[in-house]
Amino acid sequence: MAKQAITKAPTVGFVSLGCAKALVDSERILTQLRAEGYAFAPKYDGADVVIVNTCGFLDSAREESLSAIGEALAENGKVIVTGCMGATPELIRSKYPDVLSITGPAQYESVVEAVHKALPRLHEPHLDLVPAAGVKLTPRHYAYLKISEGCNNRCSFCIIPKLRGDLVSRPANQLLQEAENLVKSGVKELLVISQDTSAYGIDTRYAKSLWKDREVRAKFLDLCEELGQISKDAGAWVRLHYVYPYPHVDEAIQLMADGKILPYLDIPFQHASPAVLKNMRRPAASEKVIDRIQNWRKAAPDMTVRSTFIVGFPGETEQDFQYLLDWLEEAQLDRVGCFRYENVADADSNALGNHVPQEIVEERWNRFMAAQQEISAKRLKHKIGKTLDVLVDSVTPEGIIGRSKADAPEIDGLVHVQSKGRVLPGSIIRVKITGSDAYDLFGTIPV
Ligand code: SF4
Repeated sequence: MAKQAITKAPTVGFVSLGCAKALVDSERILTQLRAEGYAFAPKYDGADVVIVNTCGFLDSAREESLSAIGEALAENGKVIVTGCMGATPELIRSKYPDVLSITGPAQYESVVEAVHKALPRLHEPHLDLVPAAGVKLTPRHYAYLKISEGCNNRCSFCIIPKLRGDLVSRPANQLLQEAENLVKSGVKELLVISQDTSAYGIDTRYAKSLWKDREVRAKFLDLCEELGQISKDAGAWVRLHYVYPYPHVDEAIQLMADGKILPYLDIPFQHASPAVLKNMRRPAASEKVIDRIQNWRKAAPDMTVRSTFIVGFPGETEQDFQYLLDWLEEAQLDRVGCFRYENVADADSNALGNHVPQEIVEERWNRFMAAQQEISAKRLKHKIGKTLDVLVDSVTPEGIIGRSKADAPEIDGLVHVQSKGRVLPGSIIRVKITGSDAYDLFGTIPV
C-alpha cells in the first residue's frame, strides 16, 4: 500500500521580542524548524504551538514578555518560552504554570526539542525548503550577523552576563560562510552584532579555522577584512555595532578609510565622567576617547560615530552631568541615543548609594537630548549639497525612504528621497542632499 501523503505541515507561531541579538536567536530557531518541515503561522489561532522569545533586560521588557506569554496562552494554549527571561523560569512558572517548556537565551536545541515534543516533526525533513541564508526576520536586503554570545565584562547596571554567560565567539569560518550565504541571497548590508564586538575571539585565543583553503583567525581585525572582501564583490555594506574602544580598534579605521567596511562605529560610551564610568564598571573607560575620535576622523573623514548614554546613574552629580554635556559638545558625535537610568532586577547598580531622584533624571535627560539635537542638526546640515549612496528600505507613493552609510536601520535617521522613477527596495542609489532636520536628510535623484 502507498504511504499516506502528508497533507498539512505542523505549524508554529512565533513572537520575537527584544534586541537584535534576540532576533538572530529567533532566526536560528526558525531556520532549524523550517529545515525540519515545520510551517509558520502569522496568527496564534492558525498555529499548533507558539514560541515566545522573551526579553528580560529591563523591568518594562519583562512586563512586555509576560504579557506576550499570557496572550499566547489565552489565544492558543500551547506555548514554549525561550530567551533572556527564560533564565528566571520560576518567575514565569509562578504566573503561567501551563507553559510547555522554558529555556534560556541561545538554547536553540532545547527549544527545537520542546517543539518536537509538542508537535512531532514530519517524517522527512525538507532541507531543500530552506534558503541558503536561513530564515530571516529582517527585510531581505539587510541582515544581522551575530559573531559571539555572552560577555566577559561586568558593567554594574547590566545583567546580560548573568543571563547569557561569558563570551563565546563563533568560529571565523562559520561566520564567513553565513556572511557569504547572506550576500549571495541578496543581502546588501551586514550588521555585525554581539555584546562586545571588538572582543571577538579573545575567549578562543583567536582560534584559526579553515576557510576556502586557507586559515583565518577569529580576530576583530581579520574578521573585518574578510567581511569587507566578501561584501565587496556583491556591492554590500558591512556595519559594526557594539564596538568598545580598545586600542586595537584603531587598526580597523584604515579598512573604513579604504571603503572596505562602512566608516561607522557604534560605541556605547554610556557616560563620560570618570567617576560615573568607574561606578558603571565600563570596559575601556580609561581610553582617551576624544583624541581617538579626532584621529579616526582624520584618517576616515566620512566616519560616523554613534553612541548611547545613560543619565541619572546612581551617584551622578550635577558636575558629573555637566562634564558629560561638555564632553558631548567636544566629541560632536553624529548619532546618539540616551536612556534614563532605571533599576533592573538583579543588577549590581541597584545597591549603589545616592540614587538620583526621578524628576532630576527626567530633567537631565531633556537637557541631554536638547544638546545632542543641536549637534545632530548642525552635523546633518553639513551634508546638504553632497551626493550620497543611499540603500533603499521602502518605496511609497510619496517617495523613497532609505539610509545613507551613516544610518543603521531602526536606530539612526532616514533619507527621504523624492522620486518618480522605478526603484526597488534593496537597491543602492545616488541621492543629492537638499535638506535636513535634527535627525533626517532629504534629497532627490540627480538627473
Ligand atoms: S559590555 Fe557591559 S553592558 Fe555590554 S553586555 Fe557586557 S556587561 Fe552588559
